[in-house]
Amino acid sequence: MTQIAFIGLGNMGGPMAANLVKAGFAVRGFDLAESSKKAAAEAGIAVASSINDAVQGAETVITMLPAGQHVLDVWNEIVPLLDKGALIIDCSTIDVGSAGQAHELAATAGLRSVDAPVSGGTNGAKNATLTFMAGGDPKAFAAAKPILEKMGGKIIHCGEAGAGQAAKICNNMILGISMIGVSEAFTLGEKLGLSHQALFDVASTSSGQCWSLTSYCPVPGPVPASPANNDYKPGFATALMLKDLRLSQEAARAAGASTPLGAHAQALYQAFSDAGHGMVDFSGIIAHLRDQSKG
Ligand code: NAD
Repeated sequence: MTQIAFIGLGNMGGPMAANLVKAGFAVRGFDLAESSKKAAAEAGIAVASSINDAVQGAETVITMLPAGQHVLDVWNEIVPLLDKGALIIDCSTIDVGSAGQAHELAATAGLRSVDAPVSGGTNGAKNATLTFMAGGDPKAFAAAKPILEKMGGKIIHCGEAGAGQAAKICNNMILGISMIGVSEAFTLGEKLGLSHQALFDVASTSSGQCWSLTSYCPVPGPVPASPANNDYKPGFATALMLKDLRLSQEAARAAGASTPLGAHAQALYQAFSDAGHGMVDFSGIIAHLRDQSKG
């Protein structure tokens, strides 16, 4: 039975590790926070008392942590403890630069590594329907895939080391921008006396159609499951959208790509967050646009 260590048992990592247990893997988890450890133990995960205990004898280590520095700290700690040929998979959303450094750390110690950030949120983590976008050499990806399949519905190999993180921030930059576009259209439609349903019926079957409209409509009514119908409870919190847009703009600056709408989207979500709405679903940005409107 493959021995897996899972580091970072928070809102995403906890349910992901639980799905690996359900699939029959021997999983030892570790987290710094008592609350995460308690929830993981209740979900049937064997929780180790230290990171060393968690990775002892592990053939695969998965990390699911808040940001690049956490990932580098943990990888620096575990890389010397693993046997040559072991596989490390980072599923966190982190900056492309840190992802590159993490891959290098693993390679110099003779370990295989994959960056495999996810989309699908906490429901996807619970229901094992996440989309994984992976970067790493094809052999490392082939070793990671059967494990990722137990936590997700779609596993896409995007290219070499760091390509998973690149795909993730490009996708979420589209999402952040398109949600603002849809919200602006509803804000204008309201001013012009157009009903939400009429605009939805037209745009959802016309050239304005996109996921932010048809699956995650920012006004209540047309898409009953969208957070707009639940007082904009996340969902996907504004703070997380802001994090991903920040990563996209750091990467754009470093790579010399022109992304003016990405930059403007970041500024708008920043203003919404600064006004105290960081934990509101990101589709709540429509309230910010209405506030900016006159009359
Ligand atoms: P979270 O804050 O709920 O969990 C992170 C966990 O990491 C915490 O339990 C924390 O105690 C633990 N941790 C931090 N440093 C540690 C260390 N050195 N050793 C062990 N544990 C440590 O965050 P989350 O929502 O689970 O998100 C995890 C990652 O997934 C982030 O990079 C996030 O951007 C990404 N993500 C989140 C979502 C979402 O909807 N929540 C969706 C897609 C991607």
